[in-house]
Amino acid sequence: MPEPKLPTRSEDYSEWYNQVVLRADLADYAPVRGCMIVKPYGWALWENIQAGLDRRFKATGHVNAAFPLLIPKSFIDREAKHVEGFAPELAIVTHGGGEELEEPLVVRPTSETVIGHAYAKWVKSYRDLPILINQWCSVVRWEMRTRLFLRTLEFWWQEGHTAHATFAEAQAETRQMLDIYADFATNDAALPVVAGRKSEAERFPGADETYSIEAMMGDRKALQSGTSHNLGQNFAKSFDIKYLDKNNEFQHCWTTSWGLSTRFIGAIIMAHGDDQGLIFPPRLAPYQAVMVPIYKNDAERGPVLEAVERLRAQLGEFRVKVDDREEVSPGFKFNDWELRGVPLRIEVGPKDVAQGSVMLARRDKPGREGKTVVSQDNLAGALSETFADIQASLFDRALAFRQANTHEPKDYAEFRQVVEDGWAFAWWCGERECETQIKDDTKATTRCIPLEQPGGEGVCVHCGKPAKEKAIFAKAY
Ligand SMILES: [Zn+2]
Repeated sequence: MPEPKLPTRSEDYSEWYNQVVLRADLADYAPVRGCMIVKPYGWALWENIQAGLDRRFKATGHVNAAFPLLIPKSFIDREAKHVEGFAPELAIVTHGGGEELEEPLVVRPTSETVIGHAYAKWVKSYRDLPILINQWCSVVRWEMRTRLFLRTLEFWWQEGHTAHATFAEAQAETRQMLDIYADFATNDAALPVVAGRKSEAERFPGADETYSIEAMMGDRKALQSGTSHNLGQNFAKSFDIKYLDKNNEFQHCWTTSWGLSTRFIGAIIMAHGDDQGLIFPPRLAPYQAVMVPIYKNDAERGPVLEAVERLRAQLGEFRVKVDDREEVSPGFKFNDWELRGVPLRIEVGPKDVAQGSVMLARRDKPGREGKTVVSQDNLAGALSETFADIQASLFDRALAFRQANTHEPKDYAEFRQVVEDGWAFAWWCGERECETQIKDDTKATTRCIPLEQPGGEGVCVHCGKPAKEKAIFAKAY
């Protein structure tokens, strides 16, 4: 029996999102409320995200390691803002080995503290610096309102933690990693992002500065898609991470941390998806193309399947899925892979076999517009070109959408109107109280103060005080 149709995004965006995640086999609900099971198709997407990032991390001198899941509770308590920021979200282990523990243990919400403890032991002199370590792991934050990928109690991520001899080096590292996230989002995920600095209220607990990349989703809300923090000497002082400098004097290190999580999958889903389902950018898609054999009878079946096998063998450099299921029709397969976001469909029927051709159908251009007949010779070349074109089209479309829905309101009345259903890029005084009032009044928060500024000065869109910078305001996930 066919499943009921997906709700359209304009009917019910939130339900569209849930249905797409479940029906595309990306993830499932877990027995513990708020946790998720990432299914193989979703994990394959995450693996491609990991590969794209890991390659960039290593090219800039970082190495991977693994730190423990359990952290002494006293570690979290050591940095004042850190404890304040994370206290309500902690999962705490009180029993082990059948006995109550002397000191409760925290399931890591992030690893700043345990890594700070390790670095304090490892760093002796300036020669030990910098330390550039990343880890791939899951962390737990006890969220009350959860959504698959967007906000779950346990999520997967990478967290980079670095220690440096000077503020300047730590700041350069913080900005370098922000650039790497922006480059990854732009080039691998076809996701246009705004890179900027967070307001004081939106900073990571314990950071001197937090930077983020922000992306616009299909419902015009913002999603923070990666963050990079300059932690100053805060954690170094709390954990006593010191080195002997060239003059044989002790100095505290300057540390950074930076992370991108499975939340990013939510960004890909919501930035590119349409009413038919997902659309994955070819560089990250678990399957870049699906090949569907089409035949009506046994006489056609043999030659068609033979051609499919031969073509598959030519396409070894790509991630190609051959859907040779016998129990469902080609039409069912088309809909299924459209929902699951495969960027390109390759149809092989008896006519194609006779003519030495195949039909390509692009996921991002429905109907006739996205279809082309290409020769079986040099199919790999045709795929390369088509993937590059899909990748670029997805980016252009998302960028045009963001630009069309980002406004520069001239006064607060207009500001209130535009943040109802879009982003505002507006002069802001930078004061916390002003930001809180805006948030209480409109539900829009400062997403970031973009690195790219128009220059000059203005007056705050809300309070009228002098403003040196413009900020992005939006409702956000
Ligand atoms: Zn203001």
